[in-house]
Amino acid sequence: MIDLRSDTLTRPTEAMRAAMASAEVGDDVYGEDPTVAGLEEHVAGLLGHEAALFMPTGSMSNVLGVRALVAPGEEVLCESRAHIARAELGAHGAYNGVTMRTWIHPRGQVDLPVIRSLFAPDMGPFFVRTAAISVENTHNFAGGAVLPLADLRDLKEYAVGVGARVHLDGARLWNAHVTTGTPLAEYGACADVISVCFSKGLGAPVGSMLVGSGEVVEEARTWRKRMGGGMRQVGILAAAAQHAVEHHVERLAEDHAHARLLAEACGVDPAEVETNIVVVPRRDASDAASYVTRAAEQGVRVATVGPTTVRLVTHLGVSRSDVERAAAVLARL
Ligand SMILES: *Cc1c(COP(=O)(O)O)cnc(C)c1O
Repeated sequence: MIDLRSDTLTRPTEAMRAAMASAEVGDDVYGEDPTVAGLEEHVAGLLGHEAALFMPTGSMSNVLGVRALVAPGEEVLCESRAHIARAELGAHGAYNGVTMRTWIHPRGQVDLPVIRSLFAPDMGPFFVRTAAISVENTHNFAGGAVLPLADLRDLKEYAVGVGARVHLDGARLWNAHVTTGTPLAEYGACADVISVCFSKGLGAPVGSMLVGSGEVVEEARTWRKRMGGGMRQVGILAAAAQHAVEHHVERLAEDHAHARLLAEACGVDPAEVETNIVVVPRRDASDAASYVTRAAEQGVRVATVGPTTVRLVTHLGVSRSDVERAAAVLARL
């Protein structure tokens, strides 16, 4: 089976397992795990921020990241298909009393005129105050679309002007960095709080990082523990993430080339495929479901990502020859 359902399906490589096995560890709740501390310092530095906090998942990282910017009863603005709005089971409302309003963009982009029209300053005892604006780069449900640096800079400048803060869901910021060549710190400078994942295309088994100021990270550390996310000798996992950051970032370019190859085979314009995700539109829901079944019958696992769309994701566990084989199967469908 060639598995294109998600880039979370990667398994640790032998070298990654070796790094995990030999990791120096301690109790991280006591602040005594040197591998975790090293990873936090390294990733904070890459993004040009003061501090970082190792998280079990990107969802927890987003929930605590948005929480750091938005008080209960306040709102965060985001694009309508943002992971924080669609794919975290309402955690921001359920745990933190955060509300959301959304703008709609087919490529998940920053739409500053609409954001301006949505933005609500403190207007007295009736209206929800907008405390933050969240963006997702790359944008998962918009097919791995990249948010251009210029748009992120304009957004940050606007946010500073109106006293709002910016959250960046950078689960796949690595992919944006590799495809555009934009240094991670330039993206980092456009946000107050950033979340990045090691468990997607980078190929680590577990782990994400919340990045921001020392103050934000210290408070998030308390909240992570409060929510049951204090982890002990977790350097075992941080070692996998450190290995991924050192060895698996530049190779994402291969995944991007593979995705364009699959796009061509599926009749999707490869120019629309900026990173490692291809969204294939189908006629209707039953057509999408039958596409998934027929692909599986021929050894290619894909998944629906909306009622009428199928998603293909390339990653570390899919080789060039796998992609060529999958392309031949999908072209026939
Ligand atoms: C995967 C993902 C996350 C986090 O997912 P977890 O499964 O909780 O680690 C957050 N944002 C985006 C855009 C994602 O694709």
